[in-house]
Amino acid sequence: MTRQLIDRYDRRIEYVRLSVTDRCDLRCHYCMPTGFRNFEEPEDWLSFTEIERVIRAFGALGTRRVRLTGGEPLVRHNLPALAGRLAALPGIEDLSLSTNATRLAKHAVDLRQAGITRINVSLDTLRPDRFRAITQGKLEKVLDGLQAARQAGFAPIKINMVVMRGINDDEVNDMVEFCIRHGFTLRFIETMPIGETGRAATNHYINLQNIKARLAQDYDLIPGMVTGGGPARYVQVAGTDLRIGFITPLSQHFCDTCNRVRLSVEGTLHLCLGQNDKYELRPLLRAGISDEELKQHIIRAIEQKPERHEFNDKPATVVRFMSMTGG
Ligand code: SAM
Ligand code: SF4
Repeated sequence: MTRQLIDRYDRRIEYVRLSVTDRCDLRCHYCMPTGFRNFEEPEDWLSFTEIERVIRAFGALGTRRVRLTGGEPLVRHNLPALAGRLAALPGIEDLSLSTNATRLAKHAVDLRQAGITRINVSLDTLRPDRFRAITQGKLEKVLDGLQAARQAGFAPIKINMVVMRGINDDEVNDMVEFCIRHGFTLRFIETMPIGETGRAATNHYINLQNIKARLAQDYDLIPGMVTGGGPARYVQVAGTDLRIGFITPLSQHFCDTCNRVRLSVEGTLHLCLGQNDKYELRPLLRAGISDEELKQHIIRAIEQKPERHEFNDKPATVVRFMSMTGG
């Protein structure tokens, strides 16, 4: 029988979010500061072979799901080749991608063929001027990327919208209509105080329970939809195929069902998005440990996974930016 990773709080860890780069071609103001340059050096990035080795070890310890994230994962050269190697690993049944979609038009077909089935695309606004203000990028590229993703056969395609008071909260209904029209799943996310950028964005924090109540005035929302093994709580919009997920780390945290850890590009295992607990794998890998020793280190790391984040009580805990751990 496959070994499993169970932490001190009896949670089964079976999902790895893998940040393949900390760099990004956008600068979403809640994520990465304008002009930020303090990136990891290439010699410190895990190579594809090192990443494959770590994910193979996770697969042998019961991990079924891996998500490629970043930074912007498509900034990492040759990502489809890495995706193909990970999709072929024993035990890995589900390989997915979180992207800002700016480069998806070019790579969608290769990524799909490599074995990625599901993608999440960040999209906070449908207005080009607003998109530029939030991300410093071009909306058109994202829309082209989404179209290419559909044509390449990704399913589902989920749109992630960070809802911010006074910035894009007036577009919630527009985004619902957009997702109904295109057959996308929609997820709303609360701003999290991660890094100084994330903390500044919490000035625009909206409790998503209020957004849900507002939506319920315009749409018939059917509650209790169970979808996936993640933190989103879903409703269905009656009379449509649209499912809307609410990711509410602040107003209703979901730590008791947390099933994941994050591996950053330089080989650090981050054990909680909202805490600083971590375990360095790169020095071990480069010191020549065996595969069995690697598994023992992963088991030891999981034992250190904290019980929960403290975004509400201690918002200053996490200094790193979200782009370092991939959300
Ligand atoms: N670049 C890819 C993208 O944008 O989808 C993947 C990495 S990005 C860090 C992953 C997710 O984190 C995105 O959906 C983004 O909106 C979200 N995110 C970043 N900073 C955040 C913050 N302070 N609060 C809430 N969500 C945040
Ligand atoms: Fe880049 Fe994604 Fe962060 Fe935006 S949220 S700056 S696209 S890593």
